[in-house]
Amino acid sequence: MFKKITTGFVIQDYDENGKCISQSFVAGDDVQFEDKNGNPLETDDGEKIERNHEYFPFDMVQPQTVEVVDFVSEYDDGSILVSPAKYDASTGQISDIHAIDINMTGMLSREFIIRRSGEEIEICLQCHEHTMKAVMLESVASKQSLEELKTCRGGCDND
Ligand SMILES: [Zn+2]
Repeated sequence: MFKKITTGFVIQDYDENGKCISQSFVAGDDVQFEDKNGNPLETDDGEKIERNHEYFPFDMVQPQTVEVVDFVSEYDDGSILVSPAKYDASTGQISDIHAIDINMTGMLSREFIIRRSGEEIEICLQCHEHTMKAVMLESVASKQSLEELKTCRGGCDND
């Protein structure tokens, strides 16, 4: 793993109302390579990397982190529905849920995804579109202990 550091400038375009409509980064000539600890790479290594690394555009869109997962819906009558969906690990957003619309008799009790790694992540039962993240909260009863609370990564008020 290494870092590519490019010196340049950011240009932001505004409309007449002062709202930013686009931005771009203009790369200069100064490019440096550092290792993961921030130490400059030796010239030889740097040149090798400069030849071998892919060109990634400077539009600040993060590299794709979307993967296909199993979307699991559990119902209180014991029935389980599994369908493929897409999961973006950087935002926690679930998309393209290919759930078959069948009339389930039970009430939805739990939803989660299973990642390729086998990891299971709870889905928000309010929006059905985001995973839950654990946050540590100071317990109201005792200030010494921390309570783990799960909240929707999409920002639903889930309490
Ligand atoms: Zn939500």
